[in-house]
Amino acid sequence: MSRSYVIKPELGKTYPFISHGKGIYLYDKDGKRYIDGCGGAVTASIGHGVEEIADAMYQQAKEVSFAYRSHFSSDAVEELGAKLAEWAPGSLNWTFFVSSGSEATETAQKIAIQYWQEKGKPTKNRIISRWMSYHGITMGALSMSGHVLRRKRFAPLLEDYPTITGPYPYRRPEGMSLETYALECANELERAILRIGAEQVAAFIAEPVIGASGGAVVPPDGYFQRIREICDKYEVLFIADEVMTGVGRTGKAFGIDHWGVVPDLMTLGKGMSAGYTPMAATMVSDEIIETISQGSGLIMAGHTYSANPQSAAVSLAVLRYVEKNQLFDKAAEQGAYLLARLQELADELPLIGEARGLGLLCGLEFVKDKQTKEPFPLSQGVASKVIAKAFEKGLLIYPAMGGIDGVAGDSIIVSPPLTITKAEIDELIGLLKEAIVSVSQELKDKALIN
Ligand code: PMP
Repeated sequence: MSRSYVIKPELGKTYPFISHGKGIYLYDKDGKRYIDGCGGAVTASIGHGVEEIADAMYQQAKEVSFAYRSHFSSDAVEELGAKLAEWAPGSLNWTFFVSSGSEATETAQKIAIQYWQEKGKPTKNRIISRWMSYHGITMGALSMSGHVLRRKRFAPLLEDYPTITGPYPYRRPEGMSLETYALECANELERAILRIGAEQVAAFIAEPVIGASGGAVVPPDGYFQRIREICDKYEVLFIADEVMTGVGRTGKAFGIDHWGVVPDLMTLGKGMSAGYTPMAATMVSDEIIETISQGSGLIMAGHTYSANPQSAAVSLAVLRYVEKNQLFDKAAEQGAYLLARLQELADELPLIGEARGLGLLCGLEFVKDKQTKEPFPLSQGVASKVIAKAFEKGLLIYPAMGGIDGVAGDSIIVSPPLTITKAEIDELIGLLKEAIVSVSQELKDKALIN
């Protein structure tokens, strides 16, 4: 094909064409093999080419693919809702289906605001979020996100939402214990609520483990417990954005389960359909649905493709596959192994300041100086260089950044399918090591590191 009519991420770049995938591997049309070390965008969590998902897709398509949610419900969507209610903590029993993570977080925002309106508290309509966060690209979701590079162009149009800093243990004040740091960070929420006025605040949104804006940054124990207390004290809803962490990625059903905290709303995406169809969801507590049921009785949200039987059947097949193959447990076990292997790289190689993660959501942060933790200037694009080198060698990894102040900070996410074996992790680590060694040699040659 000589000319492309497709708008791609980088307009001037030529991309290889995908041919097929099997397990953790993807193959391009030139026959090159790649380890999908990040499940694309932390998405392909059951691996590629799983036949029973293709079968479920075909079965549903033979019956009916699309029936509009204003006209019909379907077995697939009801069973999917029931499965999610079974997995979700507390009374998060209700699901509103959408097609992307951005739609899920924006829907959560709207339901939170609507809830307070129906409770007779219409001034509670601001959402507090954290500067180290990414909740999506649509205007409402971006308003809640602190990812500076993604906000910058549209900043004047965005609501001024993010107000607090997220916990970032690697860069906590020198000498401060993790326990104290957890409380210090969480108490920032209380100060923000007091400053804005609890009567103005509808909800607080946070990723249980920070993904794209930090690179698998895990909060210290105690942080989310204190967040829950503060939300309860000031009547602020807590939205856990589980788009990246949900459905087993961190070794439990949902990331927030690691701290035994029950959110009021929860968003899902990515692993919910493992890339087999666009599918995402906003989960809501009994209390919120009962309030809205007794009030207007109508949730003001939704899209054409919300709750379509085709996507629901595919997502249901994915969740059943996850359950049948005990992928929550596998993610915990293989995640511990992956993190240990990444830690070895961090000990052995220059550039790596920290290896971190939870389950199979792991990350590396690159620094110029391991002692002082000085980051590389963004202009040097160190993470991008490692990602490009890994790609060349047949390994896909995901960029993350902005950990330090929303702009500086170079990190990557390593998040292979939850089905990965130890031998495959070793293969992944081998390629990653080659890529990092090669980039550090290049930086040494240019005298950019010692
Ligand atoms: N929330 C989180 C935590 C995410 O990681 C992402 C995607 N990286 C989104 C929301 C947005 O999801 P989508 O790209 O499917 O709109």
